[in-house]
Amino acid sequence: MMMDEDRAKDDDDSEGNFDDVNEDKNDGDRFFCKNPTERWADVDPLCARAGSGIFTDVDDFDGEGDGFSPDPSLLSLVRENIKVLVVGAGGLGCELLKDLTLSGFKHIDVIDMDTIDVSNLNRQFLFTEEDVGEPKATRAARAVNRRVRGAKVTGHYKRIEDMEDNWYRQFHVVVMGLDSIEARRYINKVYCSFLEFERESGEAREGTWTPLIDGGTEGFKGHARVIIPGKTPCFECTTWLFPPQTTFPLCTIAETPRSAAHCIEHAKIVQFPEEYTDEKEGGVKGGSGGGVTFDGDNPDHVTWVYKRALKRAESFGIPGVTYNHTLGVVKNIVPAIPSTNAIVSAYCAFEAFKIATGCLKSMDNYVMYAGSDKVYQNLMKLYKDEGCSQCGRGLFVQRVFDLEEATLADVLDAIESEHENTFGKREKEKEEDNVKKKDNKEGDKKEKDDMMDTAKGITGVSSDGATVWMGGVLASQYEENLSKLASDVFSVTIVANDDEEEKDDDESTRNKKTVVEKTIHVNSAKLPSPLRVGLVFEAKSRTRRKTSKEGKERERERERR
Ligand SMILES: [Zn+2]
Repeated sequence: MMMDEDRAKDDDDSEGNFDDVNEDKNDGDRFFCKNPTERWADVDPLCARAGSGIFTDVDDFDGEGDGFSPDPSLLSLVRENIKVLVVGAGGLGCELLKDLTLSGFKHIDVIDMDTIDVSNLNRQFLFTEEDVGEPKATRAARAVNRRVRGAKVTGHYKRIEDMEDNWYRQFHVVVMGLDSIEARRYINKVYCSFLEFERESGEAREGTWTPLIDGGTEGFKGHARVIIPGKTPCFECTTWLFPPQTTFPLCTIAETPRSAAHCIEHAKIVQFPEEYTDEKEGGVKGGSGGGVTFDGDNPDHVTWVYKRALKRAESFGIPGVTYNHTLGVVKNIVPAIPSTNAIVSAYCAFEAFKIATGCLKSMDNYVMYAGSDKVYQNLMKLYKDEGCSQCGRGLFVQRVFDLEEATLADVLDAIESEHENTFGKREKEKEEDNVKKKDNKEGDKKEKDDMMDTAKGITGVSSDGATVWMGGVLASQYEENLSKLASDVFSVTIVANDDEEEKDDDESTRNKKTVVEKTIHVNSAKLPSPLRVGLVFEAKSRTRRKTSKEGKERERERERR
């Protein structure tokens, strides 16, 4: 809604910010390209010419090695059909929107929950002073739409968690320009949850994955990577790539400083609390006794730390202590470098183009950029964690459930025992279980307690984005849910040859297509969560005939609900 309003507003004030560009409304391209017909001159050959064969024929991600045949119509595919999601409209996001639209992508959605700060303007070039305080996503979209002819960028001033799964499903490629690991993990989780796996081979099913391209920058360092969920390692496979924030061991800082940062930390952590006195306050001492705590926003404090650090560094023969470096260390600031954003964004946009057209082999699968000390850019192949909770196949329940008989309780029991069979059990758990089994023999009451125990373990089951919650305040509904038909809970329907009308056809017809696979996700304290679980349902004609009357009744009841 807000977006529409913003657009309407855009039409009104289109004579405003970009007068120079919009003098002639059909001349928006002028900003980047004098002659609009030349806009694609450099991009066209990528799709219209055959590759050298070296880069195009081998090992595409689907493993079929089907190569690339030049076809100029691929460009219209990029322009008209491919929908791209850009996550983040900050430093990297601005570059991405520019690069993607200038590569020919037209249909782009960008999502960001931030508003524009004046300090962003030096590098987030889609914004001007007038945009300060406004949402990044909508303003970035507006700026790109004005400058690139035909671009249909839509901005969403939203948190990524606010969007429905189905909204995420519409995109063909997702490009991330984020500065937070948590946000990356969230997007990764959403797209991994769409995966389905082949029953026999255990391979990810074609068409259920969406390529994710991730860019990241920190100062002069950056990375770009391509994730094909289910095929190449996802974020969760490689969380080791993101080590926790580095802090220096105190002994190093105190005794064997080796860098300017060590000296600065020493001045801040050790010397400041002991030695600092605030002259303005009449000589109030630092530290817990004196009441002055270090404040990185107080220039007096920073100057004091800088001077002490400099002295210490000199005594150890360590160069590099400057006021700015001191500020960076004490406030944990990493400078934002526009050129790093530009380089990483270029990687990402080109990967998106390669994926959309197949004109070149995709990056496999992670490139590092270290602009401060290297020219060489290292391409690495990361490997998948086969047991990954996000992109792994998860659990496949061997048992076939009867569409019209199996309850949620049956399915959950099967999941638990299948998990045991597949992954084995830790000794401790085994022991606990043995005790439980013994106790269970004592009577039905115990059995019921055990059931409630399961309720505590499993907190929710979801399929197609709908979740049946079993934990927390909704735990009371758990027992009620247990006796429901699993096919109802997970909306499993058999499409062909399953109509009531076909009931009396001959057996062979009815047995066709009576098996459906369903992927659900289980959240549980006992299992790795969320666990992807593959289920198979079967409409058993035999039981159906027997219980047809009952079945019809159940159907009617379902309709009433
Ligand atoms: Zn993974």
